[in-house]
Amino acid sequence: MSPPPDASSAAEDLEVTAGRAATVGRFDVRRALPRRGRRTVGAWCFCDLMGPAGVTEQSGLDIGPHPHIGLQTVTWLLEGEALHRDSLGSEQVIRPGQLNLMTAGHGVSHSEEATGRYRGPLEGAQLWVAQPASTRDGPAAFEHHGQLPAVATGAGMVTVLIGELAGEISPARHDTPLVGADLDLRAGITTLELNPRWEYAVVVARGSVEIGPAVIPAGSLAYLGLGGDGLALRTAGAARLLLLGGEPFAEEIVMWWNFVARTRDEVAGARRDWEAGAERFGRFDSPLARIPAPAVPDVLGRR
Ligand code: MN
Repeated sequence: MSPPPDASSAAEDLEVTAGRAATVGRFDVRRALPRRGRRTVGAWCFCDLMGPAGVTEQSGLDIGPHPHIGLQTVTWLLEGEALHRDSLGSEQVIRPGQLNLMTAGHGVSHSEEATGRYRGPLEGAQLWVAQPASTRDGPAAFEHHGQLPAVATGAGMVTVLIGELAGEISPARHDTPLVGADLDLRAGITTLELNPRWEYAVVVARGSVEIGPAVIPAGSLAYLGLGGDGLALRTAGAARLLLLGGEPFAEEIVMWWNFVARTRDEVAGARRDWEAGAERFGRFDSPLARIPAPAVPDVLGRR
């Protein structure tokens, strides 16, 4: 294989971190974001790689009703099917290649369930995007995109979940300048044009990828920093990656449990409202049990 083309200044500041093992619902996950010293990439503030694990018709992700404020949830599957239900009345099965995007705003609740039909492996990513001041107290919303723009680039396919990449633009809502894309690669070299005023990260879901001299294994996040105008990825075999990027998020956030806020008081208020069954988080029927909030720590760090 020939050496990759000049990998841009972005790769010189590369920070690679292994995802942290955690459990969500019934699933083992690798949490790529947030991590110590790197709370956000653009407005992206959370990234779990879920599975692969087996699900049945009646037992899936099994994340019971729980609340969110101040963020968007982005659900993207590599394999399998899952059912999203929320307090807006949405009931949406998601499959690979499709995007579920829920905007929490002032408050929403949802669950992630088995579909009642699908049995087999389930693998995917659950991400959050922090909402800016202009929309974070606004209404909740839900979008399902059954198809997203995709284009053959370099050694594979780029599918644009949110924002614009490789000349393709996703129809999904975003409240700040942002990009999220799936890169489905075989062995080879893939170069992508980046915005030098944005910061970026690559999350490796399957296989591994080389950026400059660094090898980034599955389950890891490579932070590329700011100021690069291009990215060269070298793959020795099949790999599946997410590229996340955006304008550095200008607001300081306080993230706790399922909430993205600005202060501890705000978090404590949202927790109280959830525990009280307040109208703010709505209501919907789910076969799964509602998830109670843990106690809020006395001190919550800003990012
Ligand atoms: Mn959730």
